[in-house]
Amino acid sequence: MPEIKFMPGNAPRPTRQVRIGHVRVGGDAPIVVQSMTNTDTADIEATVEQVAELHQAGSELVRLTVNTLEAAKAVPAIREKLDARGVNVPLIGDFHFNGHKLLTQVPECAEALAKLRINPGNVGRGEKRDEQFGTLIEIACRYDKPVRIGVNWGSLDQELVARMMDENAGLAEPLDSKQVMFNAMIASALQSAKRAEELGLSADHIILSCKMSGVQDLITVYRDLARQCDYALHLGLTEAGMGSKGIVASTAALAVLLQEGIGNTIRVSLTPEPGESRTKEVQVAQEILQTMGLRAFTPMVTACPGCGRTTSTVFQELALKIQSWLRGQMPVWRGVYPGVENMKVAVMGCVVNGPGESKHANIGISLPGTGEVPVAPVYVDGQKTVTLKGDRIAEEFQVIVEDYVRSHYREKNNE
Ligand code: SF4
Repeated sequence: MPEIKFMPGNAPRPTRQVRIGHVRVGGDAPIVVQSMTNTDTADIEATVEQVAELHQAGSELVRLTVNTLEAAKAVPAIREKLDARGVNVPLIGDFHFNGHKLLTQVPECAEALAKLRINPGNVGRGEKRDEQFGTLIEIACRYDKPVRIGVNWGSLDQELVARMMDENAGLAEPLDSKQVMFNAMIASALQSAKRAEELGLSADHIILSCKMSGVQDLITVYRDLARQCDYALHLGLTEAGMGSKGIVASTAALAVLLQEGIGNTIRVSLTPEPGESRTKEVQVAQEILQTMGLRAFTPMVTACPGCGRTTSTVFQELALKIQSWLRGQMPVWRGVYPGVENMKVAVMGCVVNGPGESKHANIGISLPGTGEVPVAPVYVDGQKTVTLKGDRIAEEFQVIVEDYVRSHYREKNNE
């Protein structure tokens, strides 16, 4: 993994480090991208397929729901089949309501998982809550599994909220009810973590999250949470939504916190549009980190937005084609050409900004705008090397990019 690079003046927040299988989260580890399946976990074949697809797209951890006995029994088989295919991504089990029962009845499920995620608001009610929470932590300790204590705005422990609301009402200057809810989110996470430690789970086996669906709410809560503890933090906007709204909301929230060094692993909770691949959430998470300069995953294409100076769609098609092709190559290139993920490619629509932007990239092409001579100069490492023309500009440019990757990154590899 490339080294994490924070923006000047924003040191990463020091946290404990948690090992989830072979993946490190927190401390000096790079920010980890994770995702979650939406298959029925009991459907072993479908779940294996989707986990493999998410991992192939770059998900470094994959969570799956474990909601029934059938799902719990399926987990070891899913792990086995993934191992047989060489997919070594750590699996996280998501438990609500009956996790204590499922893990007691199917201990092989606990063994096959690399981490357990539990929600303090859904562990149980009244006296049963402590007992069932204790069972989950005891199982985590027995199998040496880290635990994410994941509080969620939509399933906050209502007994805790009621108690804190009552205490607030008795204050000389009560807080507004929203702030009490925020405080309850954080208290639920921290009290549960403290209890887990008392039960024997070490602090470097604990990750916390306090997910909200509002951008400003999430920022407020995570800033407070980060101030109050040194646990590794899982960061994500819950129920972000569909399409561009989900992407924009997640990016707005995560970018502010990541820029402040808050967040050790991220998930972008997108609702897929009908027929859309689940891997979109992985791509967006990677693009948030890469465009912020925090990590690099795949060569990025800089493309101009286009304007009245270019009436053809050639440069848009070329930019899309090159970005998709680069992304598609990465599963192979990642191992063969170290450093290729930092490569920058520019695809520009006309002579106004084309040559300048192309010179700033590793490889750039400036396509002809309306009325310009129909030729496309190509720049490699800032120097104009060739001018393409005719119907096969896209194909020829792709060959130039491929040659650059082979020569440049293989050379680096052999140094
Ligand atoms: S590079 Fe040319 S086509 Fe692209 S936005 Fe700028 S002026 Fe318009």
